[in-house]
Amino acid sequence: MNEKIDIASRELWERAKTIYLSTIRNDVEKSQVERYFTMITSVSMEDGIFKIFTSNSFAADTLRDNYSEHLKSCFDLAGADKNMAISFIYDDSVKPTIVIPNEMTRQHEEKARERPLQISTYVSTMPLSSDYTFEEFVEGPSNSWAVAAAKGVVANPGKRGYNPLFIHGGTGLGKTHIMQAIGNELRKKNPMASICYLTAEVFLNKYSEALANHKMEQFRDRYRTIDLLLVDDVQFLQRGKNCQDEFFNTFNALTSAEKQVVMTSDVAPKDLPGIEERLISRFEWGMVQEIEKPSYETRLAILKKKAEGIVQPIPENALCFIAQNISSHVRALEGALGKIMVMLDLNPNIVLTDELLSIGLKDFINKEKNLKKITIEEIQNAVCKRFQISMKQLKSNERTQSLVTPRQLAMYIAKKTTTKSQQEIADKFEKTHATIIHGVKAITKRLDVEPELKESLKALYDELGYSPDNVVD
Ligand code: ADP
Ligand code: MG
Repeated sequence: MNEKIDIASRELWERAKTIYLSTIRNDVEKSQVERYFTMITSVSMEDGIFKIFTSNSFAADTLRDNYSEHLKSCFDLAGADKNMAISFIYDDSVKPTIVIPNEMTRQHEEKARERPLQISTYVSTMPLSSDYTFEEFVEGPSNSWAVAAAKGVVANPGKRGYNPLFIHGGTGLGKTHIMQAIGNELRKKNPMASICYLTAEVFLNKYSEALANHKMEQFRDRYRTIDLLLVDDVQFLQRGKNCQDEFFNTFNALTSAEKQVVMTSDVAPKDLPGIEERLISRFEWGMVQEIEKPSYETRLAILKKKAEGIVQPIPENALCFIAQNISSHVRALEGALGKIMVMLDLNPNIVLTDELLSIGLKDFINKEKNLKKITIEEIQNAVCKRFQISMKQLKSNERTQSLVTPRQLAMYIAKKTTTKSQQEIADKFEKTHATIIHGVKAITKRLDVEPELKESLKALYDELGYSPDNVVD
């Protein structure tokens, strides 16, 4: 295949994907879409048809049925020919572990072809994205410990001290990226290694499936005979008690055979709600590292990295503008960058002044403002006023329903509308993080079934001058 076309298609795809993801406001949908996107193995443009290859037929069908229409408009925005058609194709020739070819994997694949018997026959449950490498990851003070630990795992997989490696931090800060970089790097170093990446949610689903189909033995064989097990978002394990037992056994089988386990989560092990104590203490056995929000310098470096090699270069002042105005998470930086790419694509001669950038990135900047401007004290005051209770009662440990609801609602709003960490919120409520997590969960559940509570929330958002459409999680 013509390499130039291939790179152009890939860039087009990256732009369309960034635009697509930046348009989804709902987190659940976003993570679902991202999951399907990780199953895309390569893209190519042939005879006016943009072909998107996937590692399994289910992903091709789902993408075609549910996402193609909106994707088409994102391709239009990304500068594709209006008449371009998109087709989704299951490519059964692809090894499901690695996706979209880049220089590194291509070289590796060439080497692998020379020695076909040297490749592990093990197939990862979910594919690793070849974009998620250490080379593509920008290090800064906010993540350097996690990166060092991840590299330590690659150097000495399965060794005490690094096993398990547990990486935690807020959404969009690079946990999945680092985790998959470990998989990609180890695969490069040792093509024979059997590497399995999956989310805890998928582990749970596979477990339930195996249970229902009386295939527990196969399930155990599969997950207990791996060299490197990467389990993303382990907080999802809280949903399944029996599955936690199975995970515990898998975990023990692997670590005692000196096989490496890496996990990620949005909170530290000790703050995982609904996870058995014995699992939590296992999680803390090896190394626990947190990723924090990146500083301005790191944000700028990330933007520069993401803007490398783009056909239409992005002016430095635009990158600085984004880094200055967007600080909540890296995914938001990518979304803003995608928007600038579209602006430049539509009008290559445009002069990106600060004023124009403010207008173009209005949505992103508003989201940030929304996240920053409200303080926890303001939330607590507004809740006390609305429910006619005192600050002392709000922060007390009294369990009467008339206090529990406002207290948990205030915690929920603090979590949703501020960029404060779980610990900072906990401190302001004079509670533990676990209490905050529990409170947020309780309200999330109740909001689905209690219209009055939803009304109260809306009124409080209004009072605080907050627009819920702009919630970033
Ligand atoms: P998480 O799993 O923590 O929610 P992800 O790993 O999915 O976050 O990261 C979100 C996006 O941000 C990804 O596209 C990832 O490549 C990018 N990203 C995050 N941190 C960095 C970084 N330090 N350098 C480069 N890209 C990053
Ligand atoms: Mg993730």
